[in-house]
Amino acid sequence: KRTPMVAGNWKMNGSRSLVESFSDTLNTHSFKEVDVVVCPPSGYLSFFVAETFDTGGQDLSAQDNGAHTGDMSGTMLTELGARYVIVGHSERRENHGESNELVADKALKALDNKLVPIICVGESLSIREQNKVNDFVGAQLAAVFDVLTTEQVSKCVIAYEPIWAIGTGKTASPEQAQEVHAFIRETLAGKEKSLAEKTRVLYGGSVKPDNAAQLFAQPDIDGGLIGGASLKTEDFIAICQAA
Ligand code: 13P
Repeated sequence: KRTPMVAGNWKMNGSRSLVESFSDTLNTHSFKEVDVVVCPPSGYLSFFVAETFDTGGQDLSAQDNGAHTGDMSGTMLTELGARYVIVGHSERRENHGESNELVADKALKALDNKLVPIICVGESLSIREQNKVNDFVGAQLAAVFDVLTTEQVSKCVIAYEPIWAIGTGKTASPEQAQEVHAFIRETLAGKEKSLAEKTRVLYGGSVKPDNAAQLFAQPDIDGGLIGGASLKTEDFIAICQAA
């Protein structure tokens, strides 16, 4: 059985005081049977005192070091206390031109540094309207499977985040989300049967305390990747408790 996970992606939000109050409040909760992760802007990682949860980065470089101004390596994230790292978020793909191949290289680099990659996939509204969701998400996954061994994929977390549901308040319905999660699990099974049973697949896109339980109740949804609601401590905790 897969342990559910709830990961918060703060994006470029938060403050040092939020890190402190957030750590204090989360540490008073013992999360049972759910892995809780918070991914703040990397400069804040070392301010967390994370006892009942883990922290993660929002991106890493595919390189180890060198002339890459503004980038952060996997080793650096590890030194800052991160255990996870998001790769291939749609905002990175769009705003920084990250290709499927680069995302796959980043996932590999994360694993090399003992970080668990949370690999994001998901389609735009226009892809959905053209009925090409499976082709699009399938290609995003295929690029990862080209670079990672089965053993390596088994250490990753996948997050399905339809772009049209991110920050829009338009959550995918539980059925819409489940349909793509089932496809992702089939694709994992295509690489190696046991991967489908082992790998956690999270849903992201306008998850809130009032819709989390329904989404997480779907057979192939193993938790969530939470944007806006992860900045409100009480909402985030409620979502963690729904998993
Ligand atoms: P929202 O929860 O704000 O829609 O963001 C989802 C997301 O992009 C998490 O990575």
